[in-house]
Parts: sequence; structure tokens; C-alpha cells
Amino acid sequence: MEAMDLTAEQLEEIEHQRSCSSATRRVTSPGIEELIYTPLPILDQGFIRVVDYMGNDGSIVQAARVSYGTGTRKTRNDEALIRFLMRHQHTTPFEMCEIKLHVKLPLFVARQWIRHRTASVNEYSARYSKLDNEFYIPSPEHLAAQSTSNRQGREQITLSGDEAAEVLGILKTDSTRNYANYEYMLDTEGKQGLARELARMNLPANVYTQWYWKIDLHNLFHFIKLRNDSHAQYEIQAYARCMNDITRAWVPAAWKAFDDYVSNAASLSAAAIKLLNRKLLGEQVTFENSGLTKREWIELLMIFEL
Ligand SMILES: Cc1cc2nc3c(=O)[nH]c(=O)nc-3n(C[C@H](O)[C@H](O)[C@H](O)COP(=O)(O)OP(=O)(O)OC[C@H]3O[C@@H](n4cnc5c(N)ncnc54)[C@H](O)[C@@H]3O)c2cc1C
Repeated sequence: MEAMDLTAEQLEEIEHQRSCSSATRRVTSPGIEELIYTPLPILDQGFIRVVDYMGNDGSIVQAARVSYGTGTRKTRNDEALIRFLMRHQHTTPFEMCEIKLHVKLPLFVARQWIRHRTASVNEYSARYSKLDNEFYIPSPEHLAAQSTSNRQGREQITLSGDEAAEVLGILKTDSTRNYANYEYMLDTEGKQGLARELARMNLPANVYTQWYWKIDLHNLFHFIKLRNDSHAQYEIQAYARCMNDITRAWVPAAWKAFDDYVSNAASLSAAAIKLLNRKLLGEQVTFENSGLTKREWIELLMIFEL
């Protein structure tokens, strides 16, 4: 299968789901109804599909007020309440909304993703079924060089010329060869065939896996905060960016509050606040008289883009 090339049967199933609708007394979210079931492409062959959700912005307000209905207050008041809850980390009302996603992702991304323990996960079983011949191969513009300053990261510059071609060649050849050997070991024609649960160990970490992943809104925001961030690896960032967009469509007021108070906010240490106070009072503040470590000083300057 090519990038996002789902089989005709899979596409038909999705189309069928999207063509059905049922009356409900439960609250819905128009933004997410627009995109439900549709696979949103990520990387070369991955995707995220919303398969279900519970609640909307009103559900957060309803839980915070412990009210009997959707309430009669104005939207403006509801938004102000949501912003207050977010600002003061009164988090439980956000846990009242839930979302269930179907995700297709490379194994090495799944390893980082699974560290987020507050979700319910059910993964495709490579003990039970044979894995598809699908491997993540980075596009040339994402074939980044190893960072020299950050052991855990990559440089802005990418590999080029012969080196890029050679690396891409290695990734493709190894994926193809390992998959061929995987199939060979499973083969039962005239042989016993190795168990699927063992044969899979021959597959590299760029093989694609799939899972259903269900999480509440509070913990989803936490995931997005950590992974839709320049410190996270590009490949998981791509998924987190998509989840950020999904969340904006689902709960626009809560997302706006999150964007203001969490995503684009920064926390300041007591020492940093003291230092800013001195600066506001007109004192000449330098690194030498700041009392901060070099790293703290640089990070503080970066917050204010100085
Ligand atoms: C840029 C980046 C680099 C990273 N590098 C590494 C690395 O080099 N090595 C590595 O091993 N990991 C690494 N991680 C993973 C990181 O340490 C966390 O495991 C991951 O981000 C999940 O965060 P979390 O525990 O807050 O999330 P979740 O598991 O979703 O938990 C959410 C919150 O629930 C609470 N919680 C959950 N479980 C417990 C518990 N058992 N006890 C107490 N509180 C709990 C905590 O408040 C936690 O913040 C990295 C993460 C990022 C974003």
C-alpha cells in the first residue's frame, strides 16, 4: 500500500460509517462531526482517525458547575469559566471529555507514545496476525544530521547528495530484506514455519503498527503540550500537531484556553521573577549579577525571544 492508500474494502467501510447518522440526546461537537472516521494522513503511510468522542466545551462547564442541564448562561460566561479552570489548573472538568483515535504509526514513534500512561490502548497483534509490508522512510527534507550540541536531537541541516542517497538506499534495502526474511521464516510450505510472535523480531523499528487509543481531554492536552513541542522528535511532533488540530475542532473554547495558558505559556522560577522585578525597577541586569546558571539565563532570554 502507498501513502494512505487504504484498500477498497477499508475505504468502503469508512464511507459507510460516514454516511450513517443516528439521532442522539447526547451533546455533540460540530467540528469533530466533520472529520469523524476520516483518516488524516501523517508521515509517509501513517494516519490518525477519530473513531468516537464524548462531550464538548459545554460538558466541561456542566461538570464544573455540577449542573442538571446544559445551562442557560451565555457562551461568553462559559468561555470565561473554561479559561479560569485552565488558568488555575482545576483539571477534573476537562477529564469529563474523552476521545478515541485509530492511529497508524511507526514502531519507534509508538515506543515514545506509549510512555503516556494515562490512555487506554489496544494494539494490532503481531502474534495473532502477520504485519503488513509497510515501513516509514523519511522524506529527503527530514533526513536530518545528528545534532552536535544536543545529543538527543537533530540539526536543522539535512544530509545531501551521495550521503542522503546512500542512507535512503540503506533504509529501503534493509526494510525490504528484513520483511522478505520475515515472510520466509513464517512460510509453512514444506516446513513448520516460525511462530509469528518470534518472526517479528527480525523487523526494524520503522515498521508500521496500529492501535486504538482512548484518552480524556486533560491528559490529551498534556500529551500535546509535550509532543507538539520543538524538543520532541519530528515524527511524533507530526502526530501531536494533528491531534492539536483535532482538539481545536472538537472543543474550541477549551483548546483556546490551553493554547494561551499552557501551549504558549512559560513558567518562571522565583529567581527569574525576582530578576524581572529588578529589571522593571530600572536596574541593569546582566548574566553576571543575575544569580542564574548559564542555562537558566539562556532559557529565560529565549522565553522573551531576546
Ligand atoms: C522531549 C522529550 C524527551 C524525552 N526523553 C526521554 C528519555 O530520554 N528517556 C525516557 O525514558 N523518557 C523520555 N521521555 C519520556 C518522559 O520522561 C515521559 O515518560 C513522557 O513524556 C510521559 O510523560 P508523563 O509521565 O507526564 O505522562 P503520562 O504517563 O500520561 O502521565 C500524566 C501525568 O500523570 C501522572 N502520573 C502518571 N503515572 C504516574 C505514576 N506512576 N506516579 C506518579 N504520577 C503519575 C504524572 O503527573 C504525569 O505527568 C521524553 C519525553 C519528551 C517529551
